[in-house]
This record gives sequence, C-alpha cells and structure tokens, in this order.
Amino acid sequence: MDFRFTEEQEFFRTTVRDAVDRLIRPKIQAIDEADEFPRDLWKEFAALGYLGLRHPEQYGGMEADVITSMIFYEELARGSCGFSMAATMQILMGTYFVGRFGSEAIKQRVLVPAIRGEKIGTICFTEDQSGSDIGGTRTTATKVEGGWVLKGRKMWITNGPICDFCTVLASVDPGQGTEGLSFFLVEKGTPGFSVGQTIHKLGSHGSVTGELIFDGVLVPEENLLGEGPGRATRYLTDILNEVRVMTALNACAIANEAMTDAAGYARERVAFGKPIAQYQLIRSKFGSHWAWYEAARLLAYKAAWMIQERLDCQYECMLAKMFATEMCQSAVDEASRIYGGNSFAMEYPQQRWFRDARFTLFGGGCHEVLLNTLGAAYLRRGPSA
Ligand SMILES: Cc1cc2nc3c(=O)[nH]c(=O)nc-3n(C[C@H](O)[C@H](O)[C@H](O)COP(=O)(O)OP(=O)(O)OC[C@H]3O[C@@H](n4cnc5c(N)ncnc54)[C@H](O)[C@@H]3O)c2cc1C
Repeated sequence: MDFRFTEEQEFFRTTVRDAVDRLIRPKIQAIDEADEFPRDLWKEFAALGYLGLRHPEQYGGMEADVITSMIFYEELARGSCGFSMAATMQILMGTYFVGRFGSEAIKQRVLVPAIRGEKIGTICFTEDQSGSDIGGTRTTATKVEGGWVLKGRKMWITNGPICDFCTVLASVDPGQGTEGLSFFLVEKGTPGFSVGQTIHKLGSHGSVTGELIFDGVLVPEENLLGEGPGRATRYLTDILNEVRVMTALNACAIANEAMTDAAGYARERVAFGKPIAQYQLIRSKFGSHWAWYEAARLLAYKAAWMIQERLDCQYECMLAKMFATEMCQSAVDEASRIYGGNSFAMEYPQQRWFRDARFTLFGGGCHEVLLNTLGAAYLRRGPSA
C-alpha cells in the first residue's frame, strides 16, 4: 500500500491552492453577501484551464485522472462554496454526457466553449415531485420524425438560470420507470425552453439555482446522449460515484476550514483568565475532529482510487460521501460552539461554513436513501474485505 500522492499530484495541489488563495479567497465574503454568480471570476478561472479538468486535450481539456480531479475539488472547496458548486457542476456533471456521448459537432459547439468558460452547462434530474426517486420523473421525451420533443419542468438546477445548455433526464417510456429514462441535450434559444423561478438558498451563495421549463422543446436525434433510448440509469453509477467522492472531499475541505479557523479563535479568545484553547473541553473538540477528519479523507481517497482503478466501488463511494458529510456537520457545529455568540454574527466566517455545509447532505444522494442501499448490501454480503 502507498498512501502518498505522486509528485505531479502534489504539485497540482499546490498550483490549485495558489489559484484559490489568489483569485477566490479574498472574495469569499463579498460573493456570499452579493449572492450573484461571479462572472469575472469565472472567466479568470476558466483561463487557467480547470473547467476542462476531466476532458480530453483535443477539446482543450486537462485529461486529469480521477485522484487528481478529487484533489482539485477538495482545494476548490476551500474557497467560495457557491463558486465551487457552479464550477464543479460545469466540470463534472454539466459536461459529462456531452463529453461521453456527444457527436463531434456537439462537442465543438458545446464542450469546447464550456471548457473555455464561454458557455455554462448543467444537469437536470430533479423535479418538483421527485428528487431521490428518479423513477418519479414526469418530464417526457416523445419520438417524432427527426428527433424528440421534451415536455416538463426541472427544479433545483445549479447554474440553471444562467445556463447555455443542459443535460435533461426525461422518460421516453413512462411505463418502464427507471428503465425508460434517457438524457437529452437542450441548448439555450431552442423554442419552448425557458427559465422559471430562481431559488434563494440558505448557503452556497454565488451559485444560482432555479427551475427550467421545457414546453414542447424539439431537439434533433443526435441530442439523445447515450447508446439508444432508455439507458440513462446504466450510466448513472459512473457519474454518481465521482459526484459522491467529490462531495465527500468538499465536506472535508469545509470541515477543515471551519475547525482551523476555530483553532485560531480558541488560541486568542480569553475566558476566566486564559485562552479557551487551554480548556480540556475545547481541546477535545479538536482531538476528536482530527480523528474523524483523517478517517473521512482516507475513505474518500480510497474510493477515488477505486474509481480510478475501475474497481466495483459504488458502496465505498456512498460510505465515503455519507461519512465525510456527517463529519462535516459535526465539525461546523463544534467550530460554531467554539466561537460562542460570535458564531451568530454575519461578519464572522463560522455562520457561512455552517450554512454551506448543509448542501453536502443532499448532493450525491440523501443519507437516508444511501443508508437504505448500504444496509441492504451489508445484509446481503457484509462489509468489503
Ligand atoms: C443547492 C442545491 C443544488 C442542487 N442542484 C441540482 C442540480 O443541479 N440538478 C438536479 O437535478 N438536482 C439538483 N438538486 C436537487 C438534489 O439533487 C435533490 O435535493 C436531492 O436529490 C434530494 O431530493 P429531494 O430534495 O426531492 O428530496 P426527497 O427525495 O423528497 O427526500 C426527502 C426526504 O425523504 C428521504 N427519503 C426519500 N426516499 C427515501 C427512502 N427510500 N428511504 C428513506 N428515506 C427516503 C430523504 O432522505 C430525505 O430525507 C440540488 C439541490 C440543492 C439543495
């Protein structure tokens, strides 16, 4: 076993960290307060090439391996969580199906500008009445001559209100449930495609989230992204594995930021004649967090390594996601307690981490749903060897 990152990966981490420190961190508070998509920052960031992290070099991508991409997501989450959410949507989910199944013409029209930061993408699963249960998808795609007509509404779509293109999950055969689902590319300007309400969120400010409406949107045959209709769920595990480990490392980064900041506060803040860091009950919060944080990171990078090695790892990815994001909830809670009343003041950063941490509970699957699947797998086959 070798727990070290390669020299190239360490160097990459330093480079990303430097970019996040220089470009994003000075603006975190301003982005959070404005709660608007930071377009200038997006352009600066795109110029560094990161939006093509996982895509082939021939389209302007970096062709990074899975572990390297996870290093990137972890470092990016040290900056603004909203910006991180918008960027990871573009890098991973928003361009995934276009990159994997798009025709050469689609890649040139959509993927290449997305990597350059000139077009913004997203993915649409969720609807008003169905989130975890994609079998409840009501958006339909009906076959017509030369293409498909999409009808329905998608809710909670990151980058939705500002997107130039989106990958939409729709049912081509409602009687088939999850076996009748397909992904379709829809581009801005296509008649019948519009933006609905914007959702004002608790956290991750700076990413814009909202509703997308498909009112009889006609797309050509080549916009069906996949090897034939009704195959969407076959591809879902691949993308969800990466999304779950990414969310786990986002959670690790948020937890670490909150507790590192709280450590500084604990060293400075004096109560009853000495810094609160000298009280055992305060120290124990750091000791305990350290253990959970290390375990969460190990689990996440082990799952990343398993994806990279193409091992069967859907359960490991769920475990990593669940463990790290629960660790994160506990870390932001403890960090807030260390700040005392100041944790409630908007000018201190603790309230932001507290709010931002909440999303990691839903992204990549709610824990109750993951526990259901994990519990069933455990009863069937026990834990991994
Ligand atoms: C900030 C943000 C950004 C998002 N961005 C996107 C996006 O870009 N694209 C997109 O498609 N979606 C997006 N989503 C939606 C997200 O994917 C869903 O919120 C998530 O899938 C959960 O679905 P839901 O909210 O409908 O909850 P539900 O599925 O309604 O679940 C509600 C509760 O019931 C529990 N539950 C459900 N089923 C079971 C079960 N079988 N057993 C036990 N408990 C169960 C859940 O765990 C949860 O506690 C975003 C959400 C947020 C908050």
